[in-house]
Amino acid sequence: MATFYDTHAHLDYPDYKDDFAEVIARAQAAGISKMISIGTSLDSSERAIRLAEKYPAIYAAVGWHPSDAMKAPSDLRPALREMCKHPKVVAIGEIGLDYHRLPGMSGARGVTRPTMPVAAGRVTPCAPSEDDTRYKQRQADIFQQQLEVAIETGLNCVIHQRDAFDDTLAQIKPFSGKVRGVFHCFGENAGRMRLVLDIGSLVSFTGIVTFKNGQNVRDTVAATPLDKFMLETDCPYLAPVPYRGKRCEPAYVKEISEVVAQVKNCSLDELSAATCKTAQEFFRKL
Ligand SMILES: [Zn+2]
Repeated sequence: MATFYDTHAHLDYPDYKDDFAEVIARAQAAGISKMISIGTSLDSSERAIRLAEKYPAIYAAVGWHPSDAMKAPSDLRPALREMCKHPKVVAIGEIGLDYHRLPGMSGARGVTRPTMPVAAGRVTPCAPSEDDTRYKQRQADIFQQQLEVAIETGLNCVIHQRDAFDDTLAQIKPFSGKVRGVFHCFGENAGRMRLVLDIGSLVSFTGIVTFKNGQNVRDTVAATPLDKFMLETDCPYLAPVPYRGKRCEPAYVKEISEVVAQVKNCSLDELSAATCKTAQEFFRKL
């Protein structure tokens, strides 16, 4: 059986509290041999580390998600530096910029869900308000702090961006050569994928590749070199077909890998070898 990694999972979320051990057992039975639990706050990062300590197959990324930027402590760096010393902390993340819902838009303060299907309809922006400017500034500030910790600790970054591609790329660009990012849940076109690769970063693909309306993402997969991407679920979100709409879990990397192998016109073994090697080189402590 071909082996894969789930390079982006939110295993600390309450969605798994009732059947956590079974979720991990199902992943391993499906050939998903390593999973990275991604932090979205300091508490979430701590929980990811605890899971990594308990389960040999689980690793942790530590970071503060941009959607919750207003709740972040003024200086995230000391706490993150400490966490990065842990042998199973393999990256800083998820970090970046998210302009999908800005304070100037109605319901904006409810931005707690880290990622949503990229293919979904876009919100029409209102005129920028002072709140929007402050919110974006705060996101940029904590993104910068976390990029600095990445440099100091020699860890790469898991990048989240939504409706903020240009600003995210511009902010990470000065760090290229020193820090690499993986632009996770990648849903942009092939041109933007190349801009990411140009700065030495990578992309990763979720269950969106299996969606009927995911042709744009499949086109980007087709254009991405086999050694420049990784696979992930972003669970509990974005369950692939045939589980679409249900709770997602790491075992479903299998369904994602099958579609990606078709799109790349390669065998599952070739895809396994390429994506695991890429992940191993990117997350060096994996
Ligand atoms: Zn995520």
